Amino acid sequence: MTGPAVEAAFLRLAARLVELDDTGTTWPCRNRGDLWYSDDADERAAAAELCAPCPALDECGRYAAAARERHGVWAGRDRTPCRRKENDR
Ligand code: SF4
Repeated sequence: MTGPAVEAAFLRLAARLVELDDTGTTWPCRNRGDLWYSDDADERAAAAELCAPCPALDECGRYAAAARERHGVWAGRDRTPCRRKENDR
C-alpha cells in the first residue's frame, strides 16, 4: 500500500533509525533480515520476540500498519499471512 500516510510513516521510521544510528544505538533487526524475513514461521516468531526492546518499536508498528505490510516481522508482529499446509487442502 502506498500514499501520503504511508510515506509519512516510512519517513518517521527512517528518521528514527538514522537518529539511533547517529547515537551509536543499534536495534534488534539490524542486519538480521534472515530471521525477520525467514520462510520459517518459527524463526519469525523468534524474531518477533526480539523486537520487544527495540527503541523504534512505535515508529515501526505505525509504518507497518499504514503500509499493511504482509511480509516478515514488524514491531513484534509476524505480518506474513499463514500458509495452508498441503495436507489441509
Ligand atoms: S520493532 Fe521494527 S525496527 Fe525494531 S527490531 Fe522490530 S522490526 Fe526491527
